[in-house]
Amino acid sequence: MSNYTKPTTPEDQTSSGSKAPDMVIANQSIFRRQLIVAGSTVAIPVIWFLVGISLPFFINIPWYFVLIWATMHYLGMIGISVGFHRLASHSSFKGTTFVKAMLLIFGSMSAQGPVIYWVSNHRRHHHKADKEGDVHSPYFTEDGHKFKRKLWGLLHAHTGWMFRSNPSNPLRYASGLFKESYVVFVNKNYYIWILLGVVIPGFFALAIEFTFMNFFLGALYGGVVRLFTVQHATWSINSLTHMIGKRPYKRGGEATNLAILSLITAGESWHNNHHSFPSSARLGLHWWQFDPGYITLKILEKLRLVWDIKIPHKKQIAITDN
Ligand SMILES: [Zn+2]
Ligand SMILES: [Zn+2]
Repeated sequence: MSNYTKPTTPEDQTSSGSKAPDMVIANQSIFRRQLIVAGSTVAIPVIWFLVGISLPFFINIPWYFVLIWATMHYLGMIGISVGFHRLASHSSFKGTTFVKAMLLIFGSMSAQGPVIYWVSNHRRHHHKADKEGDVHSPYFTEDGHKFKRKLWGLLHAHTGWMFRSNPSNPLRYASGLFKESYVVFVNKNYYIWILLGVVIPGFFALAIEFTFMNFFLGALYGGVVRLFTVQHATWSINSLTHMIGKRPYKRGGEATNLAILSLITAGESWHNNHHSFPSSARLGLHWWQFDPGYITLKILEKLRLVWDIKIPHKKQIAITDN
C-alpha cells in the first residue's frame, strides 16, 4: 500500500486561501476494507460470468434471458454513465429528485462502490489526469511510479488500482454531495441496491415461468453476469480509453475516443471528448458519435423529468486544438 498524501498544486488551496483537505484517506483499516469489498465485488461476478457463459453448453436456456441481461446491462450502464458520472460527478443536468435518485440506484446496482466513493475517485481522476496522484491512470501509480510495461499500466487502470490506490477523500472531492439528502440515502443503502439488482431480474424470469430454475437463471444473467459486463465496460474507460483510440482534442490529454465501445458503455467511450468538455452532458459530440446516455437524457427531457442539459457550443466543439 502506498501512502500518497502530497497535495502540491494550486488547486489544493481553497478560495479562502486555507489548505484543502488531503486528496486521499491514508488509513490502514479503511484501505483494508476497500481491499475486501473490491476483492469480492470483482471476483464474485467473474466466477458467475464463467458459469453463465458455460451453462448454454449443458442446458437449454430460453432466448429471453439475453433480453433480460441486455435490459439490465442498459439500466446499469445508464445508472453509471448518466447517474454516477454525468449527474453526480459533473452536475451536467438538472432533474426531478425521483429520477435523479433512480439513476443513482441503477448505478449502485453495478457494485462499483457507493456513489460518494465513486464520485470522489472520479473527480480525483480528472484533477490529476494521468499524472502523479491519479487514482487509476494506466501510466502512473498513485505515488508517481511510471509503469515500465504497458500491460501492467492497463491492468492497474482496469482493476488493479482498487488494490493499490488509497480511497479518495470525499471531504476534498465530494463534500457538496453530503448536503443532498437523496444522494446520502442512496449512498447509505448501497448493499440493498446491489441485492435488488440481482433478485429483481430473478422475479422477472419467475413471472415468465414459475420455476426455481427460471428465478435462478434470471438472477444469474440479469443479476451477476450483468454485474460483470457493466463493471468491465465501465473499467475499460479507465484502461482502454486512456491508451487506445483517437485523440481529436489535445486538451483531452491521454484520454481517447474509442467508437467500438460506445454501445456497451452507453457513450462513455467518447472519453477524449469528455476530458475536453467535462461538464458536458453529451459525450458523443457529433451525430455520428453514438451516445445512448445522451439519447436517454433527451428522452427524459421530452418527458420533462430532466432539464438544463449542458452541452458545449458548436464553435467550441469545432476547435480541436491539435
Ligand atoms: Zn479518464
Ligand atoms: Zn468525468
